[in-house]
Parts: sequence; structure tokens; C-alpha cells
Amino acid sequence: MSDYEFQLKISQESLEFALESGRMGTWDIHIPTDEVYCSPEMLKLWGVSLQEFKNNRLLLQSKVHPDDREKMLDSIKAAIANNGVYDFEYRIVPEPGVVRWVHSRGRRTLDPVTKEPLRFAGIVYDITEKKEKEEALHRAIAARQEFFTIAGHELKTPLTCMQLQLAVLELQIKEAASEDLKSVLNPSMRKQSEHLMRITKIVDNILDETRITEGRLSLQKEAFNLTQMVKDVLSQFQVTADLAGVSIEFETTGEILGHWDRFRLEQVLLNLLINALKYGNNKPIRVLVEGRSDLATFTVLDSGKGIPSAEQTKIFQRFERGEETSRSNGLGLGLFISKTIIEAHGGEIKLESEPGKGSAFIVELPL
Ligand code: ADP
Repeated sequence: MSDYEFQLKISQESLEFALESGRMGTWDIHIPTDEVYCSPEMLKLWGVSLQEFKNNRLLLQSKVHPDDREKMLDSIKAAIANNGVYDFEYRIVPEPGVVRWVHSRGRRTLDPVTKEPLRFAGIVYDITEKKEKEEALHRAIAARQEFFTIAGHELKTPLTCMQLQLAVLELQIKEAASEDLKSVLNPSMRKQSEHLMRITKIVDNILDETRITEGRLSLQKEAFNLTQMVKDVLSQFQVTADLAGVSIEFETTGEILGHWDRFRLEQVLLNLLINALKYGNNKPIRVLVEGRSDLATFTVLDSGKGIPSAEQTKIFQRFERGEETSRSNGLGLGLFISKTIIEAHGGEIKLESEPGKGSAFIVELPL
């Protein structure tokens, strides 16, 4: 054996060993005759013996899952026609009742003389385990989503009930209780009301996160006055702010009529107000509503802890929270959902903030 032959034999053996270790097969289609040459590893994957194979491409194709066969052939044709790389995942049925996933990659070679496509060759390997893991993960995510949706809906009813009862109780205390009793009950009411609002926000946000993930967050637009909507939300929020001892200042340039999803914008404003209360160091909160030529804006300003510039983009992402707040309660969903809602309207939510001075969340909506 010459040196050259010896080297060739060694590299052939190394290649075979590498392919075998990676459970990888090779294939090579001779385009003019449609004959195919395959490595033993590929035949093993396909469940075809060397005796029955006889370079028959149709036999290999017959083992491709019927739902994937056409797509696989089209993908090969496209790669041959466009001199592209063929890269495709599909299912094979090596024997009745057994389905395996494979990943195949290949490319064409031209005849050096005629310049016509001559061969189409590549590799194929088993990815069944990877696919099964992916499917199990998708099932787990779907189950998690379903759990959150059911748990969220189950929690909503008692929460609404508690909110109403708390409002009634508050009225009764205001009218009938002595000053002594009020001084005992009011701080406790304040805490309960604050906790209830936070739990409601968390439950609403979980339900919305599920809707957004499933692409089910739809807008129901109607014509209404934005200024009036902000006033309505503020009067609802006033009770919580009063109990926390925080004042709210409101300014507006006047009525602004537009076409938006009223319920969703109320939710965004409430998210921003709750944050201003939570992170605002008990200082006054300012709310502005302004109409410009083609934009309507509402802004929530606080004089609280502020947000470092490095975190200003991150906090709008799903489950992201500020470094310093990560130990307080909250899921980091409010701003993500608010941004999604505003962008679905074709608008934008902007943030101007300086640590130690406070934050301004500006919501811009097209008119
Ligand atoms: P959560 O309040 O549940 O954490 P959000 O998405 O509403 O979720 O807010 C994300 C993060 O943004 C908060 O954890 C906090 O770090 C920061 N943040 C939001 N609003 C303010 C604000 N007004 N002042 C300071 N930090 C804020």
C-alpha cells in the first residue's frame, strides 16, 4: 500500500467513525439517473437493508412521513434550482407504527463540463430526542398557561367581591364609627385596600400576559373623551391614594376626543398610578392630559426613587424589574403589558427619569 493509499484509508476510517459516533448518515443523489448512494448509517435509520435498497430513491422516499414528503421534495428541488443549501427537518417511518425525526442538509454540484446539476449530496441525522424534548416543553408551557388562565379567573370573582365589601365597610366606618374607632380601623383599612389593589393588578397582569403570549389581546375601540376617562380613573384611585396619604394633582389642556380601547387605556393608567404610589416615596403624584395636533398624551409623574438609565429599557420587558425593587412584591409585568397595549394602538410609551428625582411615564396616542 502506498503512502497516499494509507493516508486515504486512515481518513476514510476517521470519517466513518465520526459519522457513526454522531449517528449521522450520508446520501448522494446522481441527478441525471435519480440513483442514490447512502451510507450504512442512513440505511439503518431508514430501516432499509442493503439487499432491498438497490440505490432506489423511491424506496427511501416511501419511508418519509406522508405529511412531510411533498415539502421535503420541494425543498430539494428549490435548493437544486437556486444553488442553495438544503436544510430540512422531517419525519420518517422506518417501520409501521415507528416515527423518527431527522435533520437533513445538502447542496448540489455541477458537472464540470456541461455545467448542469450533476449531484445532490449531504448528511442526515436523528433528532427524535431533541424533538421529543421540544414537544414536552411546549406541552408544559401550554399547561402552565392554562393553569394561569384558570387560576386567574377563579381569583377574579372573590377579589371583586372583597373590593365591594371593603368600599361598603369604609363608608360605614366613615358614617358611624367614633373617632377612636376610626383611628384604629383606618390604618388597617388602608393596608387592606392597598394589598387588594396590588393583588388585583397581579391577577389582571397574569391574565393579560397569557393573552399576549397566545396572541389573543385584541382591542375594542370606541369613541370617547380621554380627559374624562383619566378623571374617572383618578376618582377611583383617589381612595387608595388618600389612605396612603399621597396627594394627586391633575392638569389638562381640555377635552380630547379619540377612538381607542377605553378599558385597556384605563388599565395602563392604573398600572402607572399604582407604580407611582409604590415607588414614589409618598410624595405627590402629578397627572397631565394634553392634546396636540395629531397626538393625545397622558403623563404620570412622581418624585420618587427614579430609575437608573441602564434599567430604563429593560423594565418594559416581560418579568423584568429594577435591581433595587426585585425584592419587593410584583411580577414585572405591568409595564410590559402597558407597552403592548399602547403599541397595539399605534402609540408609544416613553420614560424620562433621574435616580433620586422621580419618573415621568408619557403615553402618546395617535388621534
Ligand atoms: P412591578 O411593579 O410588578 O415590578 P412593572 O412592570 O410595573 O412591574 O415595573 C417594572 C419595574 O420598573 C419595577 O419593578 C420598578 O423597578 C420599575 N418602576 C416602574 N415604575 C416605576 C416608578 N414610577 N418609579 C421607579 N421605578 C419604577
